[in-house]
Amino acid sequence: MANPKRKLSRASKGHRRAHLALTRAQLVRCTHCSAMIKPHTVCGDCGYYRGRQITLAANPS
Ligand SMILES: [Zn+2]
Repeated sequence: MANPKRKLSRASKGHRRAHLALTRAQLVRCTHCSAMIKPHTVCGDCGYYRGRQITLAANPS
């Protein structure tokens, strides 16, 4: 089986992982119930999307 020629240094490993940081999910307010939701998704609380009810409300408010 193919194997690495030499040990990868901690610095090289760190350089490779410099771009692996996670970013926080962007959240917006639902226009109907003002819950925090991901953009371009049906609201999980009230079931609204773009001013219309799409799914049944999980927590009718
Ligand atoms: Zn909502």
